[in-house]
Amino acid sequence: MKVKELKAFVAELKFKEPFTISAGTSYSTKNIIIVVEDDNGLKGFGEACPSFRVNRETVESNLEALRKLAPEVIKLSPLNMERVREALGKVKGNPSIKAALETALWDLLGKEIGKPLYNLLGGYREFIETDLTISLKAPEEMAYDAKKAVEMGFSVVKVKVGRGLPEDIRRVEVVREAVGDEIRIRVDVNEGWDLEEALRALPKLAELKVELCEQPLKANDLKGLAKLRKEGLVPIMVDESVHDSKEVLKVIEMEAADYINIKLMKCGGISEALRIAYIAEASGIKCMIGCMGESELGIAAATHVAQGVKNIEIADLDSDILLADKLVEEGSVTLNNGLRKALGPGIGVKKLKEGLLPLVGRWVST
Ligand code: MG
Repeated sequence: MKVKELKAFVAELKFKEPFTISAGTSYSTKNIIIVVEDDNGLKGFGEACPSFRVNRETVESNLEALRKLAPEVIKLSPLNMERVREALGKVKGNPSIKAALETALWDLLGKEIGKPLYNLLGGYREFIETDLTISLKAPEEMAYDAKKAVEMGFSVVKVKVGRGLPEDIRRVEVVREAVGDEIRIRVDVNEGWDLEEALRALPKLAELKVELCEQPLKANDLKGLAKLRKEGLVPIMVDESVHDSKEVLKVIEMEAADYINIKLMKCGGISEALRIAYIAEASGIKCMIGCMGESELGIAAATHVAQGVKNIEIADLDSDILLADKLVEEGSVTLNNGLRKALGPGIGVKKLKEGLLPLVGRWVST
C-alpha cells in the first residue's frame, strides 16, 4: 500500500449568495484539492480551504507548503498515519493543506480496507445532525432565511451576529419569532463583541433559549471568555481561540469554554481533530465539528470524524449547501432533514467533476 502519485488542483467555488459574517463578505472560495493514487490503483481525496483571517494562510502559502510536503508524503503509506502526521508537522502553519493531504491518505486507508472511514475512527454513530448557518444581514432578512431553513427540514440554525448591540439581539429575537420554540438556535459572534457588550447580550440570549454562544470575544481573550462562562447563562463555545490541541490545553487551564468548535481546516487534519476531541472529553468539554468553505468533499471527511467520535456531539457542516458549485460527481455525503450520513469506503468520494479543476502540481514516487 504505497502512494504512487499525488496531484493538486485549485477550484474556485461560488457561493449561492454573498455569505456574510461579522468580519466581512465572501462571494466565492478558492480551495485546493489533493488526489493521491496508490499502487493498487485506488484514489484518495482531500480538500483544503485556506483562511487568512483564521489561520494566517493563503492559497499561495498552502501551495508553497505543499511543494515541501508532497515529496515527503509520497514516500509514506496510509498504514503509518502517525508517520504522516509527523511528516506534516515539519512545515509551519498552513493547516488547511495539511488537512487535505492527511485526509487523502485516510481515505486511501479506508478504501484499501474496504470500510467507511468513520468505522476506523471509532464508529460511534450512524449519522450526525447539522445546523444551517444564517448569514449576517438585516434582522428581517435573517428571519426569512431561518424560516426557509426550517422549511428545508433543518431543526437547528446557526445565526451569525457580531455587528453590535442592540441590533444583534434583534437578529436573534426575530429569528426566534420566525422559527418558533421547537427549533434550536446557536449564535456565532465571530469575535465581534467586547466584554461589556457580551455581558449585556447573554441574559437576552438566555431568554431567547439560545443553545450556545460561539466566540463572543476576540480569540486571545480567554480571561474574558472565562468570565462569560462563569455567568452560567448560555454555554460558551470557542472557535477562533482553538486551532489545535495545544490551544485546547490553554482553554482548559483558563476554564474558558463549555464547547470547542473543531475544524479540520484549523487543526491540520483528522489525527489532530481526534486529539482535540479526546483531550476535551477528559476535561468535560464537549465538541462540535464545523467547517470553513469546503465542498461536499471536505464535508464528507468532517462527517466521518463526527460519526466516529463520541465527544463530537454536534455539527455545523453546511458549507456545501451554501455553495453553488459542486465538486463531487459520485460518492457524496448525504443530507436528509438536517441529518448527515457519510458513505464509504474511505470518505466515500469516488469521482470528482473535472471542469472546475485546473491541475497545479503533480508528484510521482521514485
Ligand atoms: Mg465560528
